[in-house]
Amino acid sequence: MTESEVDLTSEQYEKHREAGEILAQVREETAERVEVGVTHLEIAEYAEDRIRELGGKPAFPVNISIDEEAAHATPSIDDDSTFGEEMINLDIGVHIDGWLADTAITVDLSGNPELAEAPEQALEAAIDVIEPGVETGEIGAEIEDVIDGYGFNPVVNLTGHGLGHWEQHTSPNIPNRAVSQGTTLEVGDVVAIEPFATDGGGKVSEGASEEIFSLEREGTVRNRQARDALSQITEEFRTLPFATRWLETDRAEMALRRLKRSDIVHGYPVLKEDDGYLVSQKEHTIIVTEDGCEVTTRN
Ligand code: MN
Ligand code: MN
Repeated sequence: MTESEVDLTSEQYEKHREAGEILAQVREETAERVEVGVTHLEIAEYAEDRIRELGGKPAFPVNISIDEEAAHATPSIDDDSTFGEEMINLDIGVHIDGWLADTAITVDLSGNPELAEAPEQALEAAIDVIEPGVETGEIGAEIEDVIDGYGFNPVVNLTGHGLGHWEQHTSPNIPNRAVSQGTTLEVGDVVAIEPFATDGGGKVSEGASEEIFSLEREGTVRNRQARDALSQITEEFRTLPFATRWLETDRAEMALRRLKRSDIVHGYPVLKEDDGYLVSQKEHTIIVTEDGCEVTTRN
């Protein structure tokens, strides 16, 4: 897009801002409630209900990642896990009519304040260099430098991303390290910047569990529960991710297995570092403006 085509006061950007404002408030209120002994489910449901009360919709299930987990973990239907003295990443999203905001925060109950701080400082350094024409590789270099300076590694196979209409992940990717083959940001781009830091090697891999899903393609199924689930998915979530616990049909887990087997729905396996290491995360959504950027999820 050229500058003359972008109107940052248009309805689309107002909805991005409204989503960001709700999300900033919900992130802080939710993080305050994370304590040893509180259940993951209580925290996820608190955030998702609060988003709806404030006039938004959850853009994806609240991700609650513990210790070596980095992303894609959310409570199952009758999850009774509780927080211990752990490193906890909360990743939360809001949309207004499909226009998104995406944010994350680490709540450290593990006694590793520097690891929790590294991605926060890396994100601030990244935001400082954003302006029209900035290369995504330069943003990644800022992130890598700050996290290196703390003596940790950035997670290099997770990236920030553009936010499309009803799409949580679109181009461009925003790397968490210096890369030479990037792209440039332009006025009007809406992107999520999300540094991850770890005391591990800096590469996450897929774990066994899967609680977050999204629609892969249109299709038809015969089973009643699978059909009910599919109509809720296509009407309510469209192409945005959802959790098993959001499905209103009875036998939701069976319905999802059928939708997965037909390749109508795909799952997102939990992404994690090797056992014994910790991962921290911080994320904001920004809109590139003529003289820098506007952070929509700042409180
Ligand atoms: Mn996120
Ligand atoms: Mn994101």
